[in-house]
Amino acid sequence: MLTDTHLHLNRDEFAADLDEVLARAREAGVTRFLNVGYDLESSEASVALAERHPEILAAVGVHPHDALDLAGADGRLTSAGERVLERLEALAAHPRVVAVGEIGLDYFRDLSPRPAQHAAFRAQLVLADRVNLPVILHIRDAYAEAIAELTDHGLPARRGIMHAFAGDEEVARWGVERGFLLGIGGPVTYKTSLLPEVLTHVTPRDVVLETDAPWLPPVPHRGRRNEPSYLALTAARVAEVFGLNEADLAFQVRVNLERVLGMEVAP
Ligand SMILES: [Zn+2]
Repeated sequence: MLTDTHLHLNRDEFAADLDEVLARAREAGVTRFLNVGYDLESSEASVALAERHPEILAAVGVHPHDALDLAGADGRLTSAGERVLERLEALAAHPRVVAVGEIGLDYFRDLSPRPAQHAAFRAQLVLADRVNLPVILHIRDAYAEAIAELTDHGLPARRGIMHAFAGDEEVARWGVERGFLLGIGGPVTYKTSLLPEVLTHVTPRDVVLETDAPWLPPVPHRGRRNEPSYLALTAARVAEVFGLNEADLAFQVRVNLERVLGMEVAP
């Protein structure tokens, strides 16, 4: 039994066949889902999904791509942004919301001004501590900057998951030594991926599994919509990298997830 710790079932890509997608996932042994918000609307949709489906948990937050929803290009929170933060805080009190995310920095696509990204990130780190939840970090081409941000402003008390982990050995060590889990997704199955090598420097206690569906499908589904049933392919590859059988890996990642969420995740 596996939990997909990062996906976006609220997307239009799943509007037509969500029940079939969930049924296929169950058949593949993927029985729990953490649906992650990236703006206010998707955060509200995540909570609504969690209310309708007992196997879905929710995270609420604003992605760095949408940082202008919270802050201006000058790096200051806007009054509209303050209202979004208040709404996120209210959503975070919902019993099925288990994390603040996805939040962070994205210097790869740079879809919003960097000062806005930093301000949005900081404000939501503060929010996570205020509502006593772990964070789900989205960091792309900005590990040094994100580590500086996390170091300068204090690590989030409940830590969290470095989603779609794509750092090197040094970043992996930095994260796991501070109690973060590395979210490993479909890219670990790609021939050119550096992740298998990086994972040899951490242990099975340091990882959780995710699809990031509808994006980033594992081999052999590249170029198509990703869906949670494919998590089994990622799990098989990660088990192989660690030299574990799949049942032992599944047990270990469940223990890891329960540690960071501070709750039981029933199979
Ligand atoms: Zn995501």
